[in-house]
Amino acid sequence: MIELENIEGIGPKTKELIEKLDIHSGEELIMHYPFRYDVLKRSDISILNDKDKIVIDGIIEGQPTIIYINKSLKKIIFRVNTKKNILNVTLYNRVYLFQDLKPGKEVTILGRFHKLKNTIVASDIRFGLLPNDAKIEPIYNTTNGLTSKSLSKYIASALEEDYQIDSLVPRYLEEKYNLMAKKEALKNVHIPEDIPSLKKARQRIKYEELFMYMLKVNYLREKIITDTNAITRKIDKSKIDSFISELPFKLTTDQDKVVNEIIIDLESNKRMNRLLQGDVGSGKTIVAFIAIYANYLSKYQSALMAPTEILAKQHYEDALKIFNKCKINIALLTSSTNTKEKKDIYTKLQNGEIDLIIGTQSLIQDKVKFKNLGLVITDEQHRFGVNQRNIFKNKGVTPDVLSMSATPIPRTYALTIYGDTDISSIKTKPVGRKEVITYFKREKDITEVLEMMKKELDEKHQIYVVAPMIDDDEESDKESVIDLEDKMNKAFNKIAKIGVIHGKLDAKEKNKIMNDFENNKINILISTTVIEVGVNVPNASMIVVFDANMFGLSTLHQLRGRVGRGNIQSYCILIAENYYERLKFMESTNDGFEVSEYDFKERGEGDLFGTMQSGELELKMANIKKDFKMMERARDDAKEFIGTLLTFDTNPEYEPYFKELKRIENLD
Ligand code: ADP
Ligand code: MG
Repeated sequence: MIELENIEGIGPKTKELIEKLDIHSGEELIMHYPFRYDVLKRSDISILNDKDKIVIDGIIEGQPTIIYINKSLKKIIFRVNTKKNILNVTLYNRVYLFQDLKPGKEVTILGRFHKLKNTIVASDIRFGLLPNDAKIEPIYNTTNGLTSKSLSKYIASALEEDYQIDSLVPRYLEEKYNLMAKKEALKNVHIPEDIPSLKKARQRIKYEELFMYMLKVNYLREKIITDTNAITRKIDKSKIDSFISELPFKLTTDQDKVVNEIIIDLESNKRMNRLLQGDVGSGKTIVAFIAIYANYLSKYQSALMAPTEILAKQHYEDALKIFNKCKINIALLTSSTNTKEKKDIYTKLQNGEIDLIIGTQSLIQDKVKFKNLGLVITDEQHRFGVNQRNIFKNKGVTPDVLSMSATPIPRTYALTIYGDTDISSIKTKPVGRKEVITYFKREKDITEVLEMMKKELDEKHQIYVVAPMIDDDEESDKESVIDLEDKMNKAFNKIAKIGVIHGKLDAKEKNKIMNDFENNKINILISTTVIEVGVNVPNASMIVVFDANMFGLSTLHQLRGRVGRGNIQSYCILIAENYYERLKFMESTNDGFEVSEYDFKERGEGDLFGTMQSGELELKMANIKKDFKMMERARDDAKEFIGTLLTFDTNPEYEPYFKELKRIENLD
């Protein structure tokens, strides 16, 4: 392993910055891949369309000016002479560049060309002479104080070292697909020779990621099948039935079906590893509680883990209500539980006094030890990292695992992605819910949208307005946020209070705005980020998404789930400049499964922040949607290879694979 400080150019200060990116060695640095590339090929303005990407050289004309838009937003404007044209340039939030922007200076400007305004909204500016031919520049995610360019330099130095990164694709598969060798691929990913080499390099890395992922899936499957510590239970069904009959509502057909599947799993001598998927609001929680009740009847402890404190607390309160007639002892453990209570909980978990523990990540700490944990349920959790048998410290038995997800994916895809898991789906929603009505509107029809908004405001309902996330390099989008606030103010400032929330605000400001919205002190909430999961404002009856084409369909579907939470008719309005079939499609269904089926089929689309990100599967470069075909190949290859691997497990050649596979068993 190469220490960071042994890489040329990295001193103690830089090391600290790099470590902020969770990079701790030269190898990890090399595996920090660019998230995109800039191709520095000069544009021909005469053939550019409005808002096309542009790269152009020129000389600064006249003195640039800084304009303060508001507390968190400033811009520099200036003019540039390209010999053929004089163009305006706008540069957001890079005031530090101001001193370098002197009249007469040669610059290369990267950005988007707003043809009608004859303006470039710049994402970056380069000084000095640059090579004239196309150059491919890697762009990295980085942290304050460390530029993408310097990171690129350190990675180049690391690549010169004798680093230890194993190839995790067997030779015969490399040959089968004519894959680029690992080291060559790593080099080309960071320092591309040309576009074809870059493509081949990325193909290699992606295949390897998918292959290893699939190998892990198969490995876990083996482990589950051969687990001799799994629990066998005898469950008294009449008790379950009477518990269900006392619920305040009747289970839907799908809930009923899923409960049966789970009971069968719990009784079987095979360890349960089941994924329960269903849209937001489809009623997964009650299914979890029934499973917990069954587990309690067979005298085992249960753990329910939620991704956020708000959700954990919500589950805890629900559990107290649902189980109020049983003797189940329930506790809540989160990071805000005080030390004394925590200690008490640890003791009671260990001596078996607590039957059900509900909490956040806090549940998977060394200190948390169970007497006889029989069931682990994770709500909206990352897959690897919790689905391991060793992560919950337990005596003797391996607990059954149920994972719940509100990002439904169609069965065919789920079988590949979660190959080691049994899948249950809730497709029908409880009766009596009002469906959200979705409209797709073109930007030119904005007045129609404003009228619809006004109608909701007149009814004293609240509205979410969403625009794509602020992306530091696509500064053109920022303008649209400011434009939006302007637009909304012009249209509604007499009748509505408008709040804006975006990534640049600090947590305190964000909280205040969210609270004001929850308490109806803000009527229209403009948000540049995905509205946080768990936000529940039943009085919000409309969500308006601008530039909706920038979002993946699953994301839009999740956003749509922010409304329709009370008993008022709710609406979702998707707006885009041009016509998009996929947005039109959103009008036709409210079914998360159908949405994701369509989304998968249409893999080519950019998904700025898909709810089911590849990161969840530990994929850095591969994308489960776009690269699904490759994933299917990797699945078949891995299935074939796992047999060889397990048969010849002492062969030193296979050591690197086992190193990776063991990692998923011992994440604690
Ligand atoms: P999710 O699947 O998103 O976790 P929840 O479990 O939170 O959904 O359920 C959403 C709401 O629907 C809850 O208030 C729950 O009590 C209610 N609910 C669940 N099942 C039914 C049912 N069969 N009939 C009526 N209401 C139900
Ligand atoms: Mg839920």
